[in-house]
Amino acid sequence: MVKSLERFENKYIIEGKIRMETPLRIGKQVAPYSLSSAPVLLQYDAELDAYFPFIPGSSLKGVLRSTCERIVRSFGIRICEPPNTCDRCVICGIFGSQEGASRVRVKDCRMSEESRYWRLTEERPHHTDRYDLKKGRYVNRPNPGGFRTEEYIPPLIFDLHIEAENLRDDEISLLLLGLDEFNHRRAHIGGGVSRGYGFASVDGLTLRRLLLDGFRVREETCDLREFFPLRKADDIRAGRDFRYYWRADDDTPNGCIVSELSVLCMSDFVLKGVDERSVSVGGIPVIPGSVIKGFLRKRFINHWDARKIDDVFGSQRRDGHRSRVIISDAFSEDIIPDDRIPARTKLRCWIVFDNMEERDIKDILSLLKQENTITGNVSARGYRRGGKRIFNRVKFELESAWKFTLDDFHKDVTGWFG
Ligand SMILES: [Zn+2]
Repeated sequence: MVKSLERFENKYIIEGKIRMETPLRIGKQVAPYSLSSAPVLLQYDAELDAYFPFIPGSSLKGVLRSTCERIVRSFGIRICEPPNTCDRCVICGIFGSQEGASRVRVKDCRMSEESRYWRLTEERPHHTDRYDLKKGRYVNRPNPGGFRTEEYIPPLIFDLHIEAENLRDDEISLLLLGLDEFNHRRAHIGGGVSRGYGFASVDGLTLRRLLLDGFRVREETCDLREFFPLRKADDIRAGRDFRYYWRADDDTPNGCIVSELSVLCMSDFVLKGVDERSVSVGGIPVIPGSVIKGFLRKRFINHWDARKIDDVFGSQRRDGHRSRVIISDAFSEDIIPDDRIPARTKLRCWIVFDNMEERDIKDILSLLKQENTITGNVSARGYRRGGKRIFNRVKFELESAWKFTLDDFHKDVTGWFG
């Protein structure tokens, strides 16, 4: 469709990188991708003659839309709710509806060039040389240490490219705030989120604006900070369901709270084949989020009734909702040259407490702060201490916690839970 130049007001181009912090699962079928046991969609690259995972633009756009919807509803701004037809709400104005076309185009996120090369070496498991890409050529890099280099696979990185036409300042602001929700760990990409998949960071965002200047199109780079926060409506009624950020207008430790924790391994940690996924992600052993959640559920069954267990950890019932607690894998930021996590290793994980009450969050965190044995389907040999065999002993420490509030999307609430 050819747009007449008269109707052109502006065009924004958003670019950046999406870095997966935990495995990505998109699509149901497709070849299993060797880097994580979860299947992902693959895209053929003719130049490199290889298949690479990608994030379909439609998937990312879908996440962005529901993320922006949740923000807007929490501010008390009315948007259309199916099956009602849209009366030109802000969300449909940006993302489109049956009545109107989308003004945002999210391109398929292809794997970044640096990430691609690493994936290629992964196809050759005994090839231990490493290379840097310099000016289009691979340059040999000396082996940096004694570990088996082919086992270390850096995180997946994808190129982000979004174009938006004729958006107002508040609309482009909302889009940027929506993207930032990935960094706040409240937005996730792909499936298996309640099992800890799809945590991602959006890095290096740039925003360019094309403007009509007389009859010429002028391009300028925008300062991301120049865009304004949203204004709240007079009447804010936010429920505890996931369409809202609950209690975002108050200053209490209730609501949608995300925590970043370090996990100290007090003993060796070994897990094999839990929940159809292997013990490692990209060759790095992790404690799967699903295993940590399984541990919590099992312990709280003794304290909470079934209705509350279902409410917090998710229900199998047809009318049940997803888990309020979302736990990422606990992973090491250093290379672990082993198929076990050695004692004294420090791992990192995120736990999202989605629209939860202060008391329940505190109960969960205080259990995690104790030294516990986290077991999945364990086959661990452990070690002996005082005549007893001890294994998979871990202790969590709260590093930071933040809450979604209307005044501050990343309100530091570490002190409430520390
Ligand atoms: Zn609408």
